[in-house]
Amino acid sequence: MEDYDERPIVIDGFSSVQAIRRAQKRTESRHSKKSAEIPDQQTENTHAKKSGVRIDHTVIPQKHEIACYECDYIFMISGRIQDTICPKCHKPLRMTNHVINNECTESVRTIGTIEVKAEGVLNGAEIRARDIILAGNAENGSIRAGRRLELCKGARFNIKKTRMKDLMIRKGGEFVIPSTISCRNLEVEGILKTRIFADGMVTIKRGGILDGELHTPHLVVEDGGGLEADVVIGIGKGRSAANNTEPEIVVNNQ
Ligand SMILES: [Zn+2]
Repeated sequence: MEDYDERPIVIDGFSSVQAIRRAQKRTESRHSKKSAEIPDQQTENTHAKKSGVRIDHTVIPQKHEIACYECDYIFMISGRIQDTICPKCHKPLRMTNHVINNECTESVRTIGTIEVKAEGVLNGAEIRARDIILAGNAENGSIRAGRRLELCKGARFNIKKTRMKDLMIRKGGEFVIPSTISCRNLEVEGILKTRIFADGMVTIKRGGILDGELHTPHLVVEDGGGLEADVVIGIGKGRSAANNTEPEIVVNNQ
């Protein structure tokens, strides 16, 4: 799956050296203007810079796509994902990770991850998280994944009460969904039979099988992946699947 926000962008050492040299030149020219006032300090600083600079790699902070669980607004966070405030509705957003492994009757909201284990059962509860990993029974609950929903072997859910952007069918998972579904990216490691509109990237991994009807602009079938679906390349006119617009606001959490 296209997981663009998980990979850090790395600047090579040479670019860093260039950047540092430019910064140094500016600093030195500022110092030389002041040199009449503080001649000794200026000399010491220059020596320190010449001897002490060692450049390795510089990592630019990762950006993460976050969906506000209060108003559904999508924005980006750079750096670590932590408690934040929605830039649109200004409500506080909690970053916590949860594992549900028994009956759950209370709703849970987070911009972190919720994992519903095989023994987990949602009973009237609504769970909202950035990523949801479902192996249990959510038939009597509702699920909203701001980013990714992973359906594992044994997962049960009511598709009418399930929303996600990216959908992943984990290895061993076999699902027949009679209604039409929409998502952004789809990754199939297990078996999925449905009619699906995916306006991002569809990847069928080794051992995965997609059956039914697929509409997508981008399709990758890996070696050993099975495609039994009728495929329409492109998304039908007037049909917009998941909201794929680029988030505009970046909240810096550094
Ligand atoms: Zn909001």
